[in-house]
Amino acid sequence: MTDKLRVTVWNENRHEKTDADVQAVYPEGIHNAIAGFLKRAGFSVQTATLDEPEHGLTEAVLDQTDVLIWWGHMAHGEVDDAIVDRVQNYILNGMGLIALHSAHFSKIFKRMMGTTCNLRWRQIGEKERIWTVAVGHPITKGVGQFFELPHAEMYGEFFDIPEPDVLVFISWFAGGDVFRSGCCWQRGFGRVFYFAPGHETYPIYEDENVQHVIINACHWAAVHERPASQFGHVPEPLERL
Ligand code: ZN
Repeated sequence: MTDKLRVTVWNENRHEKTDADVQAVYPEGIHNAIAGFLKRAGFSVQTATLDEPEHGLTEAVLDQTDVLIWWGHMAHGEVDDAIVDRVQNYILNGMGLIALHSAHFSKIFKRMMGTTCNLRWRQIGEKERIWTVAVGHPITKGVGQFFELPHAEMYGEFFDIPEPDVLVFISWFAGGDVFRSGCCWQRGFGRVFYFAPGHETYPIYEDENVQHVIINACHWAAVHERPASQFGHVPEPLERL
């Protein structure tokens, strides 16, 4: 038994198999790049990928998961709806979800949001400046007023999401667009964080500030005690009627 927070990093892991540009940036796969800095930060980390049985997200794995990180892009449609149902159920019962970058279009993120989660995008490697707007929020701890990524994919408004409970970061792009790039929601007993940086052909998960945000988000999203059920028929009123 460990008292470390348990993070499962899920990656579609398809670009890494087919695209030399991505292999050059993430030779071990995006999931292992993320798992590496999370382990160094002291978390208990496991990884799971699309092509494993049950996409690596068995009940046994999810039972050992405080926070699930999700990276996907080209194969969202291959994720089995039964696994999406299962992951949603775990989130509603207290597991944290961190959806990264193109996971805005993942089945699980769209399920948790209930909207299209569509956005505008442009891939020319422009500079991104990420502004902290929720000053003092735990996810911003140790992150300055802003930080910059020299080359990023532009994700722009309008981003079709429900109003975030807390808007943590807004990104500005050199081309003039802006984007709500760090957003928090509560869903049932679970916490959901969307964080936009992370295009597969840029070494964005090696950026210290990006790592800092994801580490902070794991602490924020983890629920240590899952609540017992408080639902159902209550035949006896508390007061005498
Ligand atoms: Zn991308």
